[in-house]
Amino acid sequence: MILASWRSLAWIVRRVDVVLEVVDARDPVSTRSLRLERMVQSLGKRLLIVINKADLVPRGVAEKWKRILEDQGYRTVYMAARDHKGTRVLRRAIRDVVETYPAIVAVAGFPKTGKSTIINALKGRHSASTSPIPGSPGYTTHAQLYRIGENLYMLDTPGVIPVEGGPLEAIIRGRPPEQLEDPVRPAVMLLERALRYNPLAVKEAYGIDEKDPYRILELIALKRGWRYKSDGEPLIEEAARTVIRDYHTGKLLFYVPPEEYMARKSSYKLHAAQ
Ligand code: GDP
Repeated sequence: MILASWRSLAWIVRRVDVVLEVVDARDPVSTRSLRLERMVQSLGKRLLIVINKADLVPRGVAEKWKRILEDQGYRTVYMAARDHKGTRVLRRAIRDVVETYPAIVAVAGFPKTGKSTIINALKGRHSASTSPIPGSPGYTTHAQLYRIGENLYMLDTPGVIPVEGGPLEAIIRGRPPEQLEDPVRPAVMLLERALRYNPLAVKEAYGIDEKDPYRILELIALKRGWRYKSDGEPLIEEAARTVIRDYHTGKLLFYVPPEEYMARKSSYKLHAAQ
């Protein structure tokens, strides 16, 4: 059981040499954390940004984000960890940022960005755990170190960045719909965004050709027979939770175009998690 807290993150960063900050290729700006980046830098550790879920965006888009982040001075790679794509590039990039061996690597990021998937990809089939590190706060079990290469180790416990921000940001940053008091408002915002960035997204995901987010939620509920027992009205809360889950899995598919970020760079800075 992992407790997302800045204290746990600091515990991790202090004990490693390299931190892989995992962001989502669909919206790398909202899923990076300036606070984590500052922490890594101020503790004198190396940072490598990993744009994951690159399979959910066109290749050129992942390339562009990589270039944007590199222009800002960050070592960056992109990968599709679930499809085992990019692991070799990631390994090479880790070697490039390591300064002294033996070195320990940790994976950090918002929930659902693919941290565990990346850890498993790096572990491979043959790696065995070494000694546990005692005393880690927030963990019910001790963190383990895995050997992932010659003189290279990885902490098996990912650093989870606490989700902060408004309703839309919270979803983009991986907060599960079960934790939302009101799923409708963020789902509406998500649908507005989906319609803006990919006009076909809603049609492809639900077979619904409609532009009004509330109506879309109603139609999803009606299609699936979700109604209030009391008055038979469509249960849009359930539809909202579905929409949020579908964004997380990539079924409701849209992404922030890097061009838009470039055009509105200064206002976008505000969206990056502090
Ligand atoms: P964590 O919470 O950061 O540890 O994320 P997980 O590793 O558990 O991944 C969260 C979800 O994203 C899971 O359903 C994964 O299968 C999925 N996922 C991980 N990597 C990728 C990827 O490269 N592409 C896609 N499409 N999904 C991924």
